[in-house]
Amino acid sequence: MATSYQPLAGKLAVITGASRGIGEAIARNLAAKGCNLVINYTSASSKSLAEALGAELAAAHGIRALCVQADVGGEPGDPAAGGGAAGIIALAKAFFSPDGSTTPFQIDILVNNAGIALNDRIEDVNYKDFAETYRVNVLGPLRLVQAAKPFLPAAGTRTGRIVNLSSVSSAAGFVGQSVYGGSKAALEAMTRTWARELSEHATVNAINPGPVAGPMYASNTTEFLNDIKGLIDRTPLMRPRAGVDADDVVEATRDPLSGGGRPAYPAEIAGIVGMLCLPDSAWCTGQVVCANGGMFM
Ligand code: NAP
Repeated sequence: MATSYQPLAGKLAVITGASRGIGEAIARNLAAKGCNLVINYTSASSKSLAEALGAELAAAHGIRALCVQADVGGEPGDPAAGGGAAGIIALAKAFFSPDGSTTPFQIDILVNNAGIALNDRIEDVNYKDFAETYRVNVLGPLRLVQAAKPFLPAAGTRTGRIVNLSSVSSAAGFVGQSVYGGSKAALEAMTRTWARELSEHATVNAINPGPVAGPMYASNTTEFLNDIKGLIDRTPLMRPRAGVDADDVVEATRDPLSGGGRPAYPAEIAGIVGMLCLPDSAWCTGQVVCANGGMFM
């Protein structure tokens, strides 16, 4: 049964890395607003996750969802990469605006969410990890924007929305994140350039989560968690709320390594993406919007 308030009804969003984690939460948020979805993922093992999500959201909100397995940083035309970003857009066009369709193909919302974090100190950083991180986190979003550009809303409408998933790591100088932090700083730099180059078609913003519950955060080393404890202690919205947060979440903040704070819930990050995708956010572009509970002010 479709929900009644659907401010994005009839629009189409392409979300990379939407099989799980923050990307899945973004898919849930936009679908609840009535938006049709392209749910991208890269691993064969995530196919069933993505398809179950698409089917659930289609049934719950009366939207259409297409799942596409493709490596967003892959070479166009490489079948092993699902044709890369260009392959995602080509499949979306064939599905949402097939040959003979009277509706021109339009991409209203693009969320560059897929990302990887391979952390190492200076002496341990290797070329392979560097190249892979920049290929997925920087080249991937650039290729997706290149492939989607011809299909953004018409010049002068400015109704399109592009949201890039950065991180507090772009600015925090976290130990072990020279590569990951640098890749997110590059994404923020592209955000500002795209806000100007695409200004007649779409707003372009980045958001910068801090710790978010999920496997990426769980893979952090004790050393890293020790390093960021002080920051968490000063982050106002990360303090647990007895009776609001689940008991186990509150309990986990008693672990000294937690810095006394809880990570964000993926839905809290998705809510900020959803806000930036609304017509109400039309006067906001070129920004890195806080998505970290006040870790950075
Ligand atoms: P996650 O749980 O590891 O999920 C990553 C998603 O990206 C999966 O859907 C994965 O697909 C997909 N993906 C990975 N490489 C891809 C590629 N080459 N092409 C297409 N899809 C690919 O990640 P997350 O924690 O939700 O993070 C999402 C974004 O938020 C990332 O950009 C990350 O840097 C940023 N962020 C995360 C945190 C955090 O604490 N988690 C904090 C700040 C910023 P498969 O399922 O097929 O593998």
